[in-house]
Amino acid sequence: SNSRRQLVAGNWKMNGDKALVDKVQKQFAAATLNNMDVVICPPFPYLGLFDGKVKLGSQNISQFESGAHTGEVSVAMLKEFNCQYVIVGHSERRADNNESSSLVALKVEQVLNAYLTPILCVGEPEDVRDDGTLFDYIAAQLDTVLLKVGISQFADIVLAYEPIWAIGTGKTASPAQAQEVHAFIRGHLAKQDNNIAANIVILYGGSVKGNNAQELFSQADVDGGLIGGASLNPEDFLSICQAAN
Ligand code: PEP
Repeated sequence: SNSRRQLVAGNWKMNGDKALVDKVQKQFAAATLNNMDVVICPPFPYLGLFDGKVKLGSQNISQFESGAHTGEVSVAMLKEFNCQYVIVGHSERRADNNESSSLVALKVEQVLNAYLTPILCVGEPEDVRDDGTLFDYIAAQLDTVLLKVGISQFADIVLAYEPIWAIGTGKTASPAQAQEVHAFIRGHLAKQDNNIAANIVILYGGSVKGNNAQELFSQADVDGGLIGGASLNPEDFLSICQAAN
């Protein structure tokens, strides 16, 4: 919370159906959420069903532009469906699909080249937090992308801090824990560019619900959230958005 424009993104993961698309659209048709961005990231087949009341993001992207890459989806295709954001480097993709930070960096580059906005996810597993190497771990995840695209491109990136131990577990990071890492991330970028660090939007993700969103979003360096489970309930998701508004 601060002068930065707040953003709340819902990541449906491999959940939802056409009926949920309708419910979300009805829920948000009447809502007035000014001065903030609401983004829904449904599975690919549903992107074309949305009518423009919320912004759209995808959950993944190919690092290639087009061609012989069976099963992949390109940035150009997303643009045809008015998709403006792309989640890159979600921990589930890093785990399920062995996405390395260098592959994540290629995907970020691909998204930036298409003038879409990457939502770049970083975050530590529980053992890393326990052994005290949290900041080194997050810095390394950021540095791989920084080396590839350069600090100036971070003007067009949204970051999401998602501690893996808090994703889908109901174990939310405390507001102080989130703030500590968000401030670290901003400070890390500030070593290269103060202005970009001050303006970049950093979302928190990990078991954000209607009843804890307000306190998390009120932290100085938390600029909204990336919401998994609670984004599948349109009422809960709307109340989370209102907490950022
Ligand atoms: C996520 O998958 O990005 C996420 C934050 O999930 P959840 O809100 O369910 O913890």
